[in-house]
Amino acid sequence: MQTRKRILVTGGAGFLGSHLCERLINDGHDVICLDNYFTGTRDNILHLLDQPHFELMRHDITFPLYLEVDEIYNLACPASPVHYQFDPVQTTKTTVHGAINMLGLAKRTKSKIFQASTSEVYGDPEVHPQPESYRGSVNPIGPRSCYDEGKRCAETLFFDYKRQHNLNIRVARIFNTYGPRMHPNDGRVVSNFIVQALKGEPITIYGDGEQTRSFCYVDDLIEGFIRLMAAPDDVTGPMNLGNPGEFTIRELAEAVIRLTGSSSELATRPLPEDDPMQRQPDITLARTTIGWEPTIQLEEGLGKTIRYFESELADA
Ligand code: NAD
Ligand code: UDP
Repeated sequence: MQTRKRILVTGGAGFLGSHLCERLINDGHDVICLDNYFTGTRDNILHLLDQPHFELMRHDITFPLYLEVDEIYNLACPASPVHYQFDPVQTTKTTVHGAINMLGLAKRTKSKIFQASTSEVYGDPEVHPQPESYRGSVNPIGPRSCYDEGKRCAETLFFDYKRQHNLNIRVARIFNTYGPRMHPNDGRVVSNFIVQALKGEPITIYGDGEQTRSFCYVDDLIEGFIRLMAAPDDVTGPMNLGNPGEFTIRELAEAVIRLTGSSSELATRPLPEDDPMQRQPDITLARTTIGWEPTIQLEEGLGKTIRYFESELADA
């Protein structure tokens, strides 16, 4: 039995945050779930509300926060392009001011702090697959920049707080992750395709569908978070966490149609500006330092996610 810790999860009512809160409660910790409900919902953590060691807090991380904690997981930030582009200035505030506030909290409380960074720090990559040493190809002034540059600046802040104040930091670069509790209108490709297939609506492929992504099932990713946080203090990252299995968006659409048995047709839509053409994590660092690699491959993960959306749509 490990020691009970008091752990803050920002963005805890979101997709990844809710799974992380659940895992930390199951591991025997006190969890403070903080969220401003921009994209997250109380429904995601409803099943945890009667747990005696779970606490919910409405707060926006762009404002300072005073709490006593042992560990912080900083996940607060909209992750879907549709949502982070809705109010881009707020996205930059959340990534940058939010990081400063959470790092300040970590400094005062001497707590270990984890940052949910992203494969978007690589932009539209010219190196494939992407190792952590690749510095990226990011447009600083495009529609995705509020998120990409905000997350890059947050990484800078994490490493400056480490160098300047000796903070105990962990930075994970998360590649596209999917699973139950994604918001049905979230706009991300896996949720869009599954909901469209289940409703018999056209599957919206942006561009020619030949762009690639690598999709990680949520349970695998959360295991990576826990291992990175538990690793020795010199294992700071940045560390890629994602599933190296790479698929074109068209292949994903075909898999969703096959697994749902849907009669939906494929429909093409314009490719959004700055949409990366390819993305695949090099996870050598995670394999060798924290012994982590994904165990759930795309068809299995899609099956679980399809069953979740089927029951959500039936209840709606
Ligand atoms: P999500 O949108 O479901 O969750 C984000 C949560 O943060 C939501 O509950 C939202 O209400 C909350 N939030 C947003 N701004 C806030 C603020 N200012 N103060 C407090 N709470 C705020 O997205 P997710 O997929 O769960 O992503 C979680 C984190 O992981 C994000 O930081 C995201 O950038 C990162 N990430 C996710 C993926 C992925 O594929 N899911 C990939 C790369 C990085
Ligand atoms: N995409 C698509 N149809 C959709 C939603 C997304 O073809 O209905 C494409 C999108 O253009 C991108 C990929 O799927 O190439 C992944 O998009 P998502 O928004 O999930 O995440 P991203 O990796 O771009 O941040």
